[in-house]
This record gives sequence, C-alpha cells and structure tokens, in this order.
Amino acid sequence: MLIGGENVAAAGGEWFDDVNPATGEIIARVARGRDADVDRAVKAAREAFERGPWAKLDGTDRARLLWALGDKVRAAADELAELETRDSGKPIRDTKGVDLPMVADCLQYFSGWANKIYGDTVPVRGPFLNYTRREPVGVVGAIIPWNFPILMAVWKIAPALAAGNTVVLKPSRETPLTALRLGELALEAGFPPGVLNVLTGLGNEAGMALVRHPGVDKIAFTGGTGTGKEVMREAAATLKRVSLELGGKSPNLIFADADPDKAARGALAGIFYNQGEVCTAGSRLLVEASAHDAIVERLVEGAKRWPVGDPMDAKTRVGPMVSKSHLDSVMRYVEIGKQEARLATGGARVGERGYFVQPTIFDRVAPDATIAREEIFGPVLSVIPFKDLEEAVALANDSEYGLCAGVFTKDVGRAHAVAHRLKAGTVWINTYNVFDSASPFGGTKQSGFGREMGYEAIELYTELKSVWVALS
Ligand code: NAD
Repeated sequence: MLIGGENVAAAGGEWFDDVNPATGEIIARVARGRDADVDRAVKAAREAFERGPWAKLDGTDRARLLWALGDKVRAAADELAELETRDSGKPIRDTKGVDLPMVADCLQYFSGWANKIYGDTVPVRGPFLNYTRREPVGVVGAIIPWNFPILMAVWKIAPALAAGNTVVLKPSRETPLTALRLGELALEAGFPPGVLNVLTGLGNEAGMALVRHPGVDKIAFTGGTGTGKEVMREAAATLKRVSLELGGKSPNLIFADADPDKAARGALAGIFYNQGEVCTAGSRLLVEASAHDAIVERLVEGAKRWPVGDPMDAKTRVGPMVSKSHLDSVMRYVEIGKQEARLATGGARVGERGYFVQPTIFDRVAPDATIAREEIFGPVLSVIPFKDLEEAVALANDSEYGLCAGVFTKDVGRAHAVAHRLKAGTVWINTYNVFDSASPFGGTKQSGFGREMGYEAIELYTELKSVWVALS
C-alpha cells in the first residue's frame, strides 16, 4: 500500500492474490489492509490536509502538480495500459487508445480548475458584506470498481485534489495495480506525502472500514447499487458526505427512420465495448417494430466484428470477464436468457483458460424478463421491439436504474423531445458512450447521485461557507 508517501505492508502482514483474468494466473500478491491500515492512511491524509505543505499550497501550485501528474501519466501510458490490461482483462487497444489518454486529459482538465474555484459576493440586506467561499471538504475516501480502474480513480482524485482535499483511494481487490502505480507517479510529480494514499484490500474489510472511519469527511463511491446502499447506510452514522455512481440497465432507442448501419454500430459499441463491463452499457435495445428485422440482421452480422481473445493482442475487442465468479454470474444470466427469449447469436463461454464469453444477443425479449431488468455487466444484449414513441419512452423509463440512454433517429425534434423525457443522467443522440472531462456524468434513480467531471465535480468536493462582515 502507499501511505504517507511510503510503500508499506498491511499491519497484520496479510496478503491477497491478484489474478490475470485472461489466464487465471496469479500476477501479484497485494497487501490486505484492514482497520489498522485504514486508520493509518486516514491519519496520514488528515495530517497532510491540516498541517502538511499541502495545506499551504495555493490553487496555482495545485494546478501545476496536477498538470505534472498528467504529463507523468502520458510518459508512462504504455506501461500503465499494459499493467491495466494484465490486471483487468480490458483489451490493450482500449487501455492504450481510450483509458490512458482520458486519464491524462482528466488530470490536466482539473488542473485548469484548481485556481478558478470562486465564491460569490451576496447582495444581503443591512450594513453587511456577505460573501461565500468554496473550501475543500477535507479527507476524501475514494472507493472505485474494477471495470475502468485507473480512469475511475482519476475521475475522483483529479477534482478532489484540484479543490485542495487529501485522498485515501481504495481500488477494487480485482484491479489494485494501476492505482498503486498512480500513487507513485503522484509522489514523483511532487505531491507531498499523505496527499494521495492508496489503500488495498477487500471491500467488506478495508472498504467498509474507510466508510466507517470518523476521520473521513466524504466518501466518493463507484460500484454496484447494492454496495452503494450499504455505503450510504454506514456513512449515515457519521453523516459523511456521500456521492454514488452505481449500476445501470440503460435503454438505447432505435427509431425506424435512423440510419440502420450507424444505429446498429452504435448499439454494438454500446453493449460490447469493454466486454459489456460498463455501467453505461446500452443493454436494453429498444427497436421500432418496422425496423426490427433489418437492425437485428445487422447486429448479428456486426457481432462478428467484435473478436474475443487475448486482451494483449491489439486486434482483440472483447477481453475476459474480470474474474471466475463474475464469469459464472454472466453465464447464469445467459442460461436464463435462453429460457426467456430467442438467442440470436453467441450464448457460450469461449475456451477453458481465462474467463471469456461470446458477444451474445437475445431477441424479442419481454420487457419484464430477468435479462431485460437486471444488470448483467457482460456482453449480453436484450432486443425489445416497440410500436411507437409513447411505448418506447414508457419502456425506457420502466427501470429502477437511470444512468444513461441512447436515441437513434434522423428527426431532430423527436431526438430532443425523447432526450428530455428519458430519466437518465446522460442521453446520447445518434452516438453512444461518448465522454469528455468537461461534461458532467452521473446517475438518477438507483444509479446514484452526484456528478463527476466538469465544474459539477468541483462542487462535489467542496463545502460552501458563508462569511458575514459588519460594515458599521
Ligand atoms: P462493487 O460494488 O462490488 O465494488 C466497488 C468497490 O467497492 C470496490 O472497491 C470494492 O472493494 C468496494 N466495496 C465492496 N463492498 C464494500 C463495502 N461493504 N463497503 C465499502 N466498500 C465496498 O462493484 P464492482 O463489482 O467492483 O463494480 C461493478 C459495479 O460498478 C457495477 O454495478 C457497475 O454498474 C458499477 N459501476 C458504476 C459506474 C458509474 O459511474 N455509475 C462506473 C463503473 C462501474
């Protein structure tokens, strides 16, 4: 672990195995942090926040450090991408082509905010001056999942550090390696010890201890909806600030007037990108009945252009599921799907070594089917026909989740009208899975609350203070 600027083992001397999901082989033994380690990491972060050199730096100093870390990440991008791919199974074409460029960009985008965090002067009654200050929340516990490990880390630490907080980062037990390397790079970039601590361990041990620790001011969590509920319950005991980015079952709507090739390409990228292990996955494809056959034909044909295989091979677009237990969970849903709907393509595990699943499409899925309602988090698409716009919007919104949605149509008025009616934090029109560090991202309903990226992320990591001055 990285605590107070030093690489340390767990106080209890325990370790856990880190497995490469493409081979099933152990690639690292990682410190298994528990309460005592959490306490040490939180104390280091608190010390750095209250008394260390960090407390004396101004916004421009923090901007310079974040920009330098962005440069360090760019210089180490190939190494980090390979580490990420070995640890998580994400295809190397994605870690090199998407994740690492977005990580560097996010750090440097928030570098730009660090010296532009303003309050207001407020026109109050009476002989008073009233103004507001945006101040850091304090010690932030950042808990992240395994599907975009270094990117999720940076979505949290970049705005948190820009705003002047200190951080204890808890990566997933499946994918701790890039977070540890990122912590080292932050020290090399000049961040003072204790500003970014990386605490490795299991969710119900290190993760839970971090949520409960009274020295943590805010928990920024990304992960499953069930875990998010537990985090919120536990954080209530100390009334920590909580932001939650949780699961999804996002609808992707294709109207009959859409360009069928473009829509099918968008639908496939929406579900098979990152082997479907994406919280934004467009896993419910709602297709206008008159276009249904043409779209499904293109989907089945197009699925062949999503090769499954060794994630270190630059041609691979679909890597393994992150773990054996996740593979088993995805395959259970595939078997349920075979009972519930028509299997259009895929439907099987690939090979015995590693945890690979074929890109799988189920057709004519009933809206109340298990595979149409529950988050599968794998390369499994449910196609659901609809007859008109009203039915499409009703089906789209009939979910406990509300993270993202897609709309494919050439009718610009309809595109916007539908976008306004969809209950989701993000809507994509004639595209899918597009992100930018400047555009806020987050969920509605049981997909969570709080917005990461953009200026909204600065609000997430600051408290507003109101100051009164008597003028007479
Ligand atoms: P998870 O909820 O099992 O774990 C997420 C993190 O929480 C891990 O670091 C884990 O160690 C920790 N954790 C687990 N139990 C904990 C507890 N009791 N207390 C504190 N921490 C605990 O999720 P996962 O399997 O790693 O990731 C998959 C889930 O994440 C999916 O549901 C996916 O939709 C969601 N996700 C959401 C977003 C988003 O931005 N909305 C992004 C990526 C993933």
